Amino acid sequence: MIVRDMLYIDGGWVKPDGSGTIEVLHSATEEALGSVPSGSAADAERAVEAAARAFDGWAGTSVDERSKYLTRIQEGLQERMADIANVIAAEVGMPIHLANLIQAGLPMVDIGSMPQVLDGFPFEERVGNSLVVREPVGVVAAITPWNYPLHQVAAKVGPALAAGCTVVLKPASEAPMSAFILAEIIDEVGLPPGVFNLVSGPGRVVGEVLASHPQVDMISFTGSTEAGRRIGELASRTVKRVALELGGKSANILLEDADLSRAVPGGLNACLLNSGQTCSALTRMIVPRSRLDEVEALAVSAVTEFVVGDPFADGTRIGPLVSKAQQERVRSYIVKGVEEGATLIAGGPEQPEGLERGYYVKPTIFSRVTNGMTIAQEEIFGPVLSIIPVDSEEEAIAVANDSIYGLAGGVSSADPEHAKAVARRLRTGQVEINGGSFNPMAPFGGYKQSGNGRELGRFGLEEFLEVKAMQM
Ligand code: NDP
Repeated sequence: MIVRDMLYIDGGWVKPDGSGTIEVLHSATEEALGSVPSGSAADAERAVEAAARAFDGWAGTSVDERSKYLTRIQEGLQERMADIANVIAAEVGMPIHLANLIQAGLPMVDIGSMPQVLDGFPFEERVGNSLVVREPVGVVAAITPWNYPLHQVAAKVGPALAAGCTVVLKPASEAPMSAFILAEIIDEVGLPPGVFNLVSGPGRVVGEVLASHPQVDMISFTGSTEAGRRIGELASRTVKRVALELGGKSANILLEDADLSRAVPGGLNACLLNSGQTCSALTRMIVPRSRLDEVEALAVSAVTEFVVGDPFADGTRIGPLVSKAQQERVRSYIVKGVEEGATLIAGGPEQPEGLERGYYVKPTIFSRVTNGMTIAQEEIFGPVLSIIPVDSEEEAIAVANDSIYGLAGGVSSADPEHAKAVARRLRTGQVEINGGSFNPMAPFGGYKQSGNGRELGRFGLEEFLEVKAMQM
């Protein structure tokens, strides 16, 4: 049992205002993994005040000084990699070998890349008779989800600290443990008091205080579109800057000349990674109707490779989902898909055989889906792929763009130039061409209701900066 009974505020571990706790469950055993404090409105206030007091000092540090701190935080993350991967594999259900690589590996890049981004960043430039300077936006509140819990924290905390902002972090209640490890690392590194603060607690209490607080200058949120809307409304009352990284229903277009033997298994993987609990998952595979039989056969064959099981067992490719609520939600979408007339070609709503406990869902593939169906429109956040046949490239693009979301996408073709031309027509923030791999330095974020703002690399740093013009 991992019992955390303190919050990290103003440079030290402090007792929370109340005595409430949030129980964190193991996704594979359904047993208690530990608990964290259920912080209160007063705890959130205390953290914001500490961050506000620390702002002037931290904003006044040199780029070199901030780079040194960030490098030391990255080194701390490296030392704690195994702890981080283990706890996230248990909380979220990602198989341990992938959790090591992604859940523990990516945060190191998110933070470790910042000194490189800062090096030579144009904080000042001349525009005619003006000196234009970029300054930190102020106190940042970061509210993060559970699916890539430390990556999403690091993608906010890294650039915010690099910019010279101070931070209050509220991690997701389902997967808060790695944020406490980060706070321990930051404490060891000796960041000045108040520069980083951690308050766990319910989104509706701690999150809403942060989103409304007049001393918070910016709110950076990743999570559901519904919570994003609420945060945007609350933040608008004090005209804060709001960065939102929300849901997706991303389309993967396989063009007529695509190499299906690569594109179908690759596309399936881009849907099923982390049991489909990925905002940029490619959940709609749009394929030429003339090649539908081939696509179906390849998908059914590829899905057998996705062995479902304990995230800590050798050979597991898909672990459980994060929670009972999430498992039930995903299963209800599968039932809905069948009811609405999609053809179930793999998986289904039942518990996978041999796994009595754990929030498992079978990797599930629907074919002959039409884009108006619920499973083609709503974010399921589970291991469910919808194959949508179309009759032309124009129709493929129209279907891909027929979504309230615009986070990611994919295009496969034997001709990369042709794929690029199609990619330019997708209204999304990211597009993989022929399975191009995730780039942690490239801007990440959405069009339409997938949010606003960009994270990671130079674009991620720019989110946390204000611009001032001084006329000479
Ligand atoms: P939420 O959006 O509710 O949670 C994300 C974060 O926001 C958590 O820290 C949460 O706190 C906090 N939060 C929730 N409500 C508020 C509020 N009113 N004010 C301030 N903060 C708030 O996601 P869920 O965990 O409920 O997941 C539901 C669905 O959201 C998923 O099925 C999926 O479709 C989508 N989702 C999308 C993600 C993405 O990356 N695009 C990530 C996670 C979920 P707390 O944990 O305490 O509730």
